[in-house]
Amino acid sequence: MLTDLTENPTCIECGLCREVCPVFQTQRQEEYSPRGRAILGYAGLQTLVFYQCTLCRACRAICPVEHDPSGETLRAGLISAGIETEANQLMIANIRTYGNPFGPLAEGELPKTLTCC
Ligand code: SF4
Ligand code: SF4
Repeated sequence: MLTDLTENPTCIECGLCREVCPVFQTQRQEEYSPRGRAILGYAGLQTLVFYQCTLCRACRAICPVEHDPSGETLRAGLISAGIETEANQLMIANIRTYGNPFGPLAEGELPKTLTCC
């Protein structure tokens, strides 16, 4: 679901979401936290960091103002601006060409790499 950013409650930068975000738990850098993502979004920056989100919405569940991480909306903006990871481009191309995200596979063959955005 795409979030209308004009109706999204403003992040008050309390930081509660950092402790429930699985991405921040592994990266431990503010730019990967929901709060950091909100700040980057308010600054109008379009960055590959927005792809570093599982879309789990655990941050929204704990957020006192119910700020929506709006990951889908931010990614849609990136795609519109032509900002994509190489892995994402390859995955989409494979789906279009081979009908799967991995590329050409023989019957029963396992993919050598797992492709994700
Ligand atoms: S997104 Fe919500 S929980 Fe996270 S810093 Fe902003 S107001 Fe606090
Ligand atoms: S929706 Fe994204 S930013 Fe929010 S907790 Fe999940 S991974 Fe973190």
